[in-house]
Amino acid sequence: MGLIIDDVKKKFGHHTAVNGISLSVEKGSMFGMLGANGAGKTTTFRMILGLLDPTEGSVTWEGASLSYKRTNVIGYLPEERGLYPKLTVKEQLIYLMRLKGMKKNEIVKAMRMWLERFEVPEYENKKVEELSKGNQQKIQFIAAVMHQPELLILDEPFSGLDPVNTDMLRGMVRDLQEAGTTIVFSSHQMSNVEELCEELVMLKHGEAVLQGNLKEIKRSYGVKNVNIRSD
Ligand code: ATP
Repeated sequence: MGLIIDDVKKKFGHHTAVNGISLSVEKGSMFGMLGANGAGKTTTFRMILGLLDPTEGSVTWEGASLSYKRTNVIGYLPEERGLYPKLTVKEQLIYLMRLKGMKKNEIVKAMRMWLERFEVPEYENKKVEELSKGNQQKIQFIAAVMHQPELLILDEPFSGLDPVNTDMLRGMVRDLQEAGTTIVFSSHQMSNVEELCEELVMLKHGEAVLQGNLKEIKRSYGVKNVNIRSD
């Protein structure tokens, strides 16, 4: 079953942010959402998460709305990163992951494993405000994945990262998919989607202007025509 988005629309007053998008993301796959600023990516994610109700249409994960599923089913990296600056990384992760139902000792164990993977074990007792934006992003990514969600939604996970960290994060995202996580992520850049996904959708002004298998899209349209400019 996986994730099914069926003809969803979202209007804010007279403004239509998402205008009839349908997607099917198979369980265990990685799906890319491309689009320029304002294309409707974040609004679509918020409808998947059950944070916003679609004006029309429906979103289901394994046959039911995510609004009715336990919060530990899903992991979310929001585009607006939001950590508490005065907390240490450890305090921050304990606070967030207890909301997902994890026990403190499980959280500390998983946190140390992830900090090691990012090669920053010394961050455990640093305050969030002492870390650079890119490093805060790593902590927010860890908060999205530590509880081993079935479905992982990553809003612009690679934005603001340097090439070394982008590569590192891509490797981790790929490993999570290989371990069975279903992943949907958005990006402004085709290179990230190309590297990781077989299936993608390209949004423009709230509509899906291209969607399907990446290789087939390139065959049909030519690589040069696959761009995300909003004009
Ligand atoms: P970005 O990468 O800039 O966040 P996006 O593709 O995620 O772009 P959305 O944030 O989904 O785009 O926004 C789509 C459109 O809907 C934009 O025109 C935006 O201004 C509008 N919009 C989003 N949320 C609201 C809201 N709560 N009220 C009114 N308009 C909104």
